[in-house]
Amino acid sequence: MNPDHTHRRWSHLRKILERSGPFCRPDFEPSPNTLEFLMENCKVLVIGAGGLGCELLKNLALMGFRKIDVIDMDTIELSNLNRQFLFRHKDLGSSKAEVAAKFINERVPGCSVTPHCCKIQDKDESFYRQFHIVVCGLDSIVARRWINGMIISLLNYEDNELDHSSVIPLVDGGTEGFKGNARVILPGLSACIECTLDLYPPQRTYPLCTIANTPRLPEHCIEYVKVIQWPKENPYDCEIDGDDPQHINWIYEKSIERATQFSIRGVTYRLVQGVVKNIIPAVASTNATIAATCATEVFKLATSCSGSLSNYMVLNNTDGIYTYTYEAEKRTDCLGCSEIPRELEIRDGNIKLKDLIEILCERHDLQMKDPGITVNINGKNKTLYMHTVASIEVQTRANLTKTLTELGLKNDMEINVADVTTPKTKIIKLKFQNGNDVEMA
Ligand SMILES: [Zn+2]
Repeated sequence: MNPDHTHRRWSHLRKILERSGPFCRPDFEPSPNTLEFLMENCKVLVIGAGGLGCELLKNLALMGFRKIDVIDMDTIELSNLNRQFLFRHKDLGSSKAEVAAKFINERVPGCSVTPHCCKIQDKDESFYRQFHIVVCGLDSIVARRWINGMIISLLNYEDNELDHSSVIPLVDGGTEGFKGNARVILPGLSACIECTLDLYPPQRTYPLCTIANTPRLPEHCIEYVKVIQWPKENPYDCEIDGDDPQHINWIYEKSIERATQFSIRGVTYRLVQGVVKNIIPAVASTNATIAATCATEVFKLATSCSGSLSNYMVLNNTDGIYTYTYEAEKRTDCLGCSEIPRELEIRDGNIKLKDLIEILCERHDLQMKDPGITVNINGKNKTLYMHTVASIEVQTRANLTKTLTELGLKNDMEINVADVTTPKTKIIKLKFQNGNDVEMA
């Protein structure tokens, strides 16, 4: 490529990086070295190669980042093609990470995207430690919480002082229909995903009794056909396949029948598809806006040319265009980023182990999925319950119906909780509301 072209290609970036200005961070020094660092050294990890991921990869590559890794376990489906623009019809069934990387590498000269077709949980600390910045375009809260925990586990503390060189900034984008958010997390320094966990609504599920007896919404009728009528009538002699139009049609017709019975309106084919496949509607322009915000934040973090977003931006295009940015606060007893064990108030030692597990799953600020609990009593490690390993599950199942007192747990005692939402075991301190151990009548 001729030198003049190469020079002109980055001339806009040079204007920002080689001159000072009123919005620069105080530590910013205009220099040609910044662009060189961005292009030659800065390693960015993009998590997710879906709607946000395609946008992020394109933006970062066109901004001059050349050492990009992308990780995604999914393969390309037909329904992705309307917005995941790095994929074509011929790519159906192929790995998203691999196809996206190949597309960018062919299209953007000098850029090298390395794909990883696997779960984020398949990679260890040494993999994540190599990156300067991690940017997430995920649709799963569990995955977000896991990567948040992983990046926090890489922090080094010396004499309780955080070693700033161990901080890997996490830029996180999320969208749902016309709504989205973008945030910048400086692990150990600013609010992390767990600090603000109560912002995430629990997964949308409908109580079975409502579905069966008192449906009010079209969704209730569809859910009824899906979870009750389908298994009973088994029309196609198989499980529901959300991509099979015959299946969706059957559920659609039965849902209409049920909706008519209860005078409920609003059952449509699209809604049936949405409820059956649990689809969050994807809007390409929301993805583009959020990804652009995230990519800009990555650029600012990599170059110091401007202060970072502080630290949580929400976008709502449902009714007009609305955006707002505020500073989410770090929780002093955060389960993710503080060193202090979280205290958990429970009634007393008479509650059963299964009740404790339910509390861990249902509390908005904990939202665990399948917690396993171990405890150290008198210097001995004891597994109270673990669902993930079949043999241990069988051995510990009987504990579920025992009370905490029967299991030897006392007020102020710490339990160790393992869960899919975190790479590291969490310590939770039990606080009995009456302050006493047992029935001190
Ligand atoms: Zn936190």
